[in-house]
Amino acid sequence: ESRRAAEFAAELLQTVHATIREHQDELGRLDAIAGDGDHGIGMERGARAAAETAQQLLERGPGAQTLLVEAGAAWGAQAGGTSGVIWGALLDGIGRALGDDAAATPDSAVAGVRQGAEAVTRIGGAHPGDKTMVDALHPFVETLGEQVDSGESLAAGWQAAAAASTEAAEATKDLLPKLGRARPHAEKSLGTPDPGAISFALIVTAVGEKLASRE
Ligand code: ADP
Ligand code: MG
Ligand code: MG
Repeated sequence: ESRRAAEFAAELLQTVHATIREHQDELGRLDAIAGDGDHGIGMERGARAAAETAQQLLERGPGAQTLLVEAGAAWGAQAGGTSGVIWGALLDGIGRALGDDAAATPDSAVAGVRQGAEAVTRIGGAHPGDKTMVDALHPFVETLGEQVDSGESLAAGWQAAAAASTEAAEATKDLLPKLGRARPHAEKSLGTPDPGAISFALIVTAVGEKLASRE
């Protein structure tokens, strides 16, 4: 069971990488408006390192925690940039909450996402409304928790949470950035959504489709 959880985590990381590769240019263009234009390149490099590390580790039969912690470290080390550190912390937090021994359950997945989000806040210090990926992450975590607590399946709850996250990511176009590289060019970013919020929403949407197809 713990092995199945690790194998599925590795598969999801391949999905994450494929999704980012598909949207890489668009993410770069979004980041070029008020940032430095490297969000697509950085996310692709990080997601590729995470997926490859996970794939290589599988041969050694790790649990989900080991797999995600190592994949997160690879993401942070290879991506460069703010989003690499943030995504590294997110995978690390999810992995630590899942543990190595048990099979993942809907409750442990919620705990993992929650712990990952706490790590992102601890490291980056961003709050909702600052025009960062936290604006997409926060409603995702809240909605997923509510859905699973009220008895929805993980896949259904995740898809509802991904929809909330997508809406929130698009709504960041009306915000002014308070943190990060886009801060000095705050006015230029009005009318354009935050690239990190958009990439987060794309990733959780793709993962939700994968979860649903597995049920
Ligand atoms: P960099 O800004 O170092 O070039 P990226 O372009 O890859 O890195 O990522 C930019 C994204 O990082 C932003 O769109 C925003 O969503 C996210 N971000 C920036 N600062 C923070 C922070 N303090 N906490 C969370 N996310 C952040
Ligand atoms: Mg950038
Ligand atoms: Mg950069």
